[in-house]
Amino acid sequence: MNMSLPDIDHLTSTLGRTRKDVTILGSTGSIGCNTLDLISRNPESYSVKALTANQSVEKLAAQAIKYNAEMAVIADNSLYEDLKAALSGTQIIAAAGENALNDAAELPAELVMSSIVGAAGLRPTLTAIRRGATIALANKECLVCAGDFMMEQVVEFGATMLPVDSEHNAIFQIFDFEDPQNVEKIILTASGGPFWNCELSEMTSITPEQAINHPNWSMGAKISIDSATMMNKGLELIEAYYLFPVEKDQLEIIIHPESIIHSMVSYMDGSVLAQLGTPDMRTPISYALAWPKRMKTPSKKLDLTEVGRLNFIKPDEEKFPALNITRQVLQIGGSAPTILNASNEVAVYAFLDGKIKFLDIARIVEETLEKISFHKMTSLSDVHEVDENARRVAQEIITGMGM
Ligand code: NAD
Ligand code: MG
Repeated sequence: MNMSLPDIDHLTSTLGRTRKDVTILGSTGSIGCNTLDLISRNPESYSVKALTANQSVEKLAAQAIKYNAEMAVIADNSLYEDLKAALSGTQIIAAAGENALNDAAELPAELVMSSIVGAAGLRPTLTAIRRGATIALANKECLVCAGDFMMEQVVEFGATMLPVDSEHNAIFQIFDFEDPQNVEKIILTASGGPFWNCELSEMTSITPEQAINHPNWSMGAKISIDSATMMNKGLELIEAYYLFPVEKDQLEIIIHPESIIHSMVSYMDGSVLAQLGTPDMRTPISYALAWPKRMKTPSKKLDLTEVGRLNFIKPDEEKFPALNITRQVLQIGGSAPTILNASNEVAVYAFLDGKIKFLDIARIVEETLEKISFHKMTSLSDVHEVDENARRVAQEIITGMGM
């Protein structure tokens, strides 16, 4: 009889390895699906605790069943029965509503992927922070709208914050955290989106379909529009300020249309360190999943001879006023970033709904910032109040435009 014995070394190393429990807030989106893709390739290393979505019931239920999640949450209350029906016959707990999102974040998963889009992700992300979890942060809006508060909570509750945004993940990999005074500046690279090379006159008639069509990255609708206005890079400037121990004037933005260098750190001795790779979010996501180790990914490997040439261009702030607005907002601090983020969210969705023009997005943000006075924020309820008020003001401006 020819019996092949299992490889004992392999068996013990597999059995001895504990699987990391992962909760994904926003599992049906672009980041969420990429995270699940990596988990499906490494089932021995990761298991899924909870998955959440806004309205995509079918997709959420299919994911929860495929990954054998403990809990699936749909944010839209009216879809609870649909979710329950889709999960009937399984052991998976179905839940709905904002509080249930929080319950999902509360479950004891070691790692929480924060990948809801917009300030809607703030509360569950804070819940995960407060139980000392490791947060893989993709949801930059929640950091922009409550940065001081959120980072204080990270320290207070001993949580770990791992940046997933490709630029911040790059910086995280090359930043000298032991001696931050060695850092002269952080250079955030921007693809520039689809219009960095357009004339301002051509930008008046940009449609949502054109704006959503990003040249290098495949992403959700909101971040694609933010990339096209370059508000995304502005939000990332603020994100970088909260994530890394640098001063506000140590942050620079350059356009790099190939999206190969994901960001750089310039040191006082003249060295500039960069992290490179093909534009595939599975690389930074994998870094957060496997941290402090690394894992294999299916991302296309970088062949610089194939790329040939890397270009770098100074951004034109007249064409992209969002850059100047965010720089000022970062200087002001307090409630200003919250107002910026909220008004931008309202304006982006209004543009996607065909209610305003492309160039109106930054105008609405600017006008909202002009209409509301700034103050220091001390609590989460402060953040919510400022956020709600800014949304109302931005909406009024849009209604007043009467397009
Ligand atoms: P997406 O629109 O593809 O997915 C968003 C997810 O959040 C979905 O699962 C959706 O159901 C959920 N969601 C939306 N609104 C919600 C609400 N009100 N309540 C609860 N859940 C809600 O977005 P994405 O491209 O995956 O981006 C997610 C976040 O990651 C954003 O903050 C974005 O800026 C950031 N990010 C994305 C990329 C990327 O490549 N997609 C890169 C860097 C950073
Ligand atoms: Mg980014």
